[in-house]
Amino acid sequence: MTKNVLIVTEFRNGDYRRVTYEVASEARRIADALGAGLIAVSLGSGVSGKAAELGKYGVDKVYVLDDPALEYYLAETYVPIIAQIVEKTQPVAILLPASVDGRDIGARLCGTIDVTLVQDVIEAQVDGAGKITVKWPLFAGKIFAWSEWGQGVPPMFSMRPNIVPCSIMDDNKKAELEKIEAPVPTPRARVVKYDMDVSGKKELTEADVIVAGGRGMKEATNYGLLEDLAGLLGAAVGASRAAVDSGWRPHSDQVGQTGKVVNPNLYIAVGISGAIQHLAGMGYSKYIVAVNKDPDAPIFSKADFGVVEDLFNFVPAFTEEVRKLKASC
Ligand SMILES: Cc1cc2nc3c(=O)[nH]c(=O)nc-3n(C[C@H](O)[C@H](O)[C@H](O)COP(=O)(O)OP(=O)(O)OC[C@H]3O[C@@H](n4cnc5c(N)ncnc54)[C@H](O)[C@@H]3O)c2cc1C
Repeated sequence: MTKNVLIVTEFRNGDYRRVTYEVASEARRIADALGAGLIAVSLGSGVSGKAAELGKYGVDKVYVLDDPALEYYLAETYVPIIAQIVEKTQPVAILLPASVDGRDIGARLCGTIDVTLVQDVIEAQVDGAGKITVKWPLFAGKIFAWSEWGQGVPPMFSMRPNIVPCSIMDDNKKAELEKIEAPVPTPRARVVKYDMDVSGKKELTEADVIVAGGRGMKEATNYGLLEDLAGLLGAAVGASRAAVDSGWRPHSDQVGQTGKVVNPNLYIAVGISGAIQHLAGMGYSKYIVAVNKDPDAPIFSKADFGVVEDLFNFVPAFTEEVRKLKASC
């Protein structure tokens, strides 16, 4: 049997989520190091029209089940089918997204197929002998664990979103498709509908630039300053838990251990002290800019650029400069 790495994809509202491409890119790198092929299992409603595009990210073959009954993710319907593909293909490693759904699939799948799962991996290494070792954070990133699997056990792990880049290998490559011939299991409970955020706001976990405000913003209306700057930068607006607990921002804006984990190219932290629980959510951003009037604020130890200044002086002046620069381009 050909050696393969298997990924589990995430498909929602007619398209793959970005994290699927990240996982595919990372799995391709691992498959190449192992001299293996890369296969995917892809479930959803409308998924067959998109599945071949995974080829761009290095996927050789996709096992597809396209069924309206799979529109909303449910462990009871998804996991038995995924387990069946694992049984059939006997992969040498299994990767999933460490998204809400991916973590849920991973937890149930590892029990079903009797494999050890590591969740929320931020780095994977393959040594010369083909052994995979993964790094994952504990206690909100205070310490990191490195884990490996024993002989004969396929490593299975979920990758934290926004950690590895999406790498297009070949724009013209189409993955081979194979239809999964299996009935969708009848669940004991079902999702009736999702109430989606229809505000048109940029999704934090998919944003390239984030401007986030903390308790230093003082009150809800002051977030208008950050909205103005974010509008010019094409950024999403985030918040610390202190700001959310104060009722200034919705919980969907919270970044951190009990909020969202983000990894934009640029994270501008305004009036945020840099508590460990906040850093757990944004510490892997490529560039961090901190604006804080306290030169000893912990956020400065994590920041690439620091501005020690009252935010109510700095943010409007900075926004004005960005506006001028954009007008001159
Ligand atoms: C189990 C647990 C989970 C948690 N999860 C999260 C989480 O997911 N996300 C999260 O963010 N927190 C989380 N927290 C809370 C966390 O510990 C901090 O309390 C919180 O992050 C502090 O938010 P902050 O930085 O906005 O407020 P503060 O710590 O009060 O900092 C405000 C900062 O603003 C600066 N400032 C004030 N005025 C100005 C001004 N005019 N100009 C410039 N700077 C100014 C101050 O110098 C200060 O550094 C969690 C805590 C626990 C115990």
